[in-house]
Amino acid sequence: MDCIFCEIIKGNIPSTKVYEDDFVTAFNDLNPQMPVHVLIVPKKHIASCNDITEDDALIVGKVFLAAKEIAKKLGLDNGYRIINNCGKDAGQTVGHLHFHLLGGKTMGEKII
Ligand code: AMP
Ligand code: ZN
Repeated sequence: MDCIFCEIIKGNIPSTKVYEDDFVTAFNDLNPQMPVHVLIVPKKHIASCNDITEDDALIVGKVFLAAKEIAKKLGLDNGYRIINNCGKDAGQTVGHLHFHLLGGKTMGEKII
């Protein structure tokens, strides 16, 4: 299976890691949309939000605990946004579950 994020997790494709634990890795997005744009990625290959199972509940929880740690480490004291794109209509381009952690400036229009 060709999955760019699995290759990053294995270290076969370089990335700028900002966080890692047993369940999750996080690295800078190649094409940042904000001063801080980190991708938080479960180490287990899960294709999208639609593919999360009950067994993955711990992993998904770990994603949000990692987000909190990363935000603190990167000084996002004024807040941040977490976005997941699920499927075609949402513009998901990489088929490995990931969460965009965005911050570093005041964000404009809310999308929700
Ligand atoms: P999405 O559109 O939600 O699927 O987000 C995929 C994200 O992965 C995009 O923001 C890309 O810029 C980012 N991306 C793709 N390839 C890499 C890579 N090799 N290293 C870091 N980020 C990447
Ligand atoms: Zn993968």
